[in-house]
Amino acid sequence: MAEYKCKYCGEAFDKPLALAWHVRSNHKRAKKRAKKVAAKPEPAPMSKALEAMGVLKGLQASPNLSDEGKKLLGDVAKTVEGLIPKSK
Ligand SMILES: [Zn+2]
Repeated sequence: MAEYKCKYCGEAFDKPLALAWHVRSNHKRAKKRAKKVAAKPEPAPMSKALEAMGVLKGLQASPNLSDEGKKLLGDVAKTVEGLIPKSK
């Protein structure tokens, strides 16, 4: 009788379909999950955006700011705000 061995753990099956199902449910899924964890985004860029937002808010509150400067800062603040996901 032919034997189909799993290349990951060495377990033997009598049908290629049984082996395929075993590999799919026992090995492929675990591999995918590990990849997902590795692809987790770094939190650093977000804190930078929040930091920039704080600086912009401080500049916008400056009494010496011209109308042109206010408009420019408002535009930049809108752009930075768009980078920060809504937390509520
Ligand atoms: Zn296996």
